[in-house]
Amino acid sequence: MWQNKKKALTFSFDDGTLQDRRLVELMDKYGLRGTFNLNSAFLGKRTAKKEVNGQTVDYSRVNPTEIQSLYRKHEIASHTLAHLSLTELSDEGIVWQVEKDRKLLSILAGYEVVGFAYPYGCYDERVLRVLKENTGIKYARIVGAPLAVFDKANEIGDLMCYNPTLHICQTDKMMEMGRAFVRAKPEEPILFCVWGHAYELDEGKDVSWEDIEAFFALVSGQEDIFYGTNREVFLGDDCLLDKD
Ligand SMILES: [Zn+2]
Repeated sequence: MWQNKKKALTFSFDDGTLQDRRLVELMDKYGLRGTFNLNSAFLGKRTAKKEVNGQTVDYSRVNPTEIQSLYRKHEIASHTLAHLSLTELSDEGIVWQVEKDRKLLSILAGYEVVGFAYPYGCYDERVLRVLKENTGIKYARIVGAPLAVFDKANEIGDLMCYNPTLHICQTDKMMEMGRAFVRAKPEEPILFCVWGHAYELDEGKDVSWEDIEAFFALVSGQEDIFYGTNREVFLGDDCLLDKD
């Protein structure tokens, strides 16, 4: 795993809005990898722009025909068909929202999609059981409280409710932990997982494009860090169409 490196950095971005195009370009520039959690029923959907924080923000979604090429250096993962909270659905509804999305995305991606992020971070014991027993999902990311320390890779616990390290809006903490991660010489493997939505960079409320690029510049290009998708980092399983 991790090409025998002791540190892994991964990103997880949700919803597949048009800002993913700019974000992917930036990640590719710095050689960073991540996972993009998509709602297949919304792919190609155009929505009216909204004024947020004095910025005009477009929440339209990327097109189904572009995702294989756009995310070729990244992982495509499920986020349900229509961004529904799984705790509100019946067992059958959960399976439909997850498996239908997973299968549609698998066709578009060109490989079997096995990753997942819970819409709104909502899950409970029943949802976990249904996901484990009745879907092809192999890991799932929640929306938890930010962590003060990096996860030890062998102490992550249940991969079906993985709590990422922090959200991109915690900009100062992200930079501080980025510096600590670059300096760290851990005995045991550690993991740094950053999550967010690309549209938040256009909103510019707590984090801007300049902020995220500064973070990318800080953490990239390190010989002792493995840069991988969530799937590579959690499962050691490679699905990338373009590995260069
Ligand atoms: Zn979402």
